[in-house]
Amino acid sequence: MKQRVFSGARPTGRQHIGNYIGAIENYVKLQEKFDCIYCIVDIHALTTIESTSELQQNIFEMTLDWLAAGIDPKKSIVFVQSHVPEVTELFTYLGMVTPLGWLLRVPTFKEKARMQPENINYGLVGYPVLMAADIVLYKSNVVPVGEDQLPHLEMTREIVRRFNFLFGDTFPEPQAKLTNYPLVLGLDGAQKMGKSYGNHIELAATPEETLAGVKTAVTDPARQRRYDKGHPEICNVFSLHKFFNIDRTQEIEVQCRSAEIGCVDCKKLLADGINHALKDFRARRSALAKDPDHIYDVLADGAQRAQKIASETLHEVKTKMGLVRNA
Ligand code: SF4
Repeated sequence: MKQRVFSGARPTGRQHIGNYIGAIENYVKLQEKFDCIYCIVDIHALTTIESTSELQQNIFEMTLDWLAAGIDPKKSIVFVQSHVPEVTELFTYLGMVTPLGWLLRVPTFKEKARMQPENINYGLVGYPVLMAADIVLYKSNVVPVGEDQLPHLEMTREIVRRFNFLFGDTFPEPQAKLTNYPLVLGLDGAQKMGKSYGNHIELAATPEETLAGVKTAVTDPARQRRYDKGHPEICNVFSLHKFFNIDRTQEIEVQCRSAEIGCVDCKKLLADGINHALKDFRARRSALAKDPDHIYDVLADGAQRAQKIASETLHEVKTKMGLVRNA
């Protein structure tokens, strides 16, 4: 039997090239070796969201991007977290075996509490427990993560160990699978690429929008004039070339160091590389967008398949916890 991969991502709408490099490309590859479950975690989004008015549209756009990128709903389960409500029941049970002290020490909780002091809600504290419920509800073995998410996964492993100790062997301890590109910087070259920073390029952008975005990218500050020699190792445009212009990386590096190429031309090359790499994706996305019912069917089918696994796990959990009368 194949090992099971679980990954959840917040419904952030149209995906950007950072999402693609850091996660989606990996999702697509993992499908060949693993039994994969990809979940849009809308309940998690509620812990920090200010308005839910765009939530449904964001779920739709994100699903569209995932499918256009090659996540295959025949191979993988693609669904929305709240469509399988068993997760909230398991969240409650796991909450009973998770000491509050563990949760209050989580660095991201402290950071979020600092960022939204007027809204330190219960969901924010319980976030790692809900994440554990997401993973173990499907008895997942492997979780693709960036390095910044390792502490969360360790918390899941601790909860699993505690549950298994108290109620008997039930869940596998999920292992981390680090992504190849743990950090993709945004066009500002300073922060992780993200919509909230406005430093991103959407996968579905037009070639013109892509070029306009790339033109704003921060480069090596030493290159004030065309003939100044550059340092590609500190330039994020160069980092993106490594992904989108892999065959030309060496040549660009030499040309930058010797000032044979200027940043304007270098950025044009990057935009061309991105547009070339995403040409098929964009065509598939346009075709899929013409049939919204198909997207909703995929999510409904995914929820049904996920729920089958979830209800079996939940029955086992309730039995082991003494919540079900033994026959
Ligand atoms: Fe960066 Fe390219 Fe300019 Fe070199 S030439 S500093 S790699 S944008």
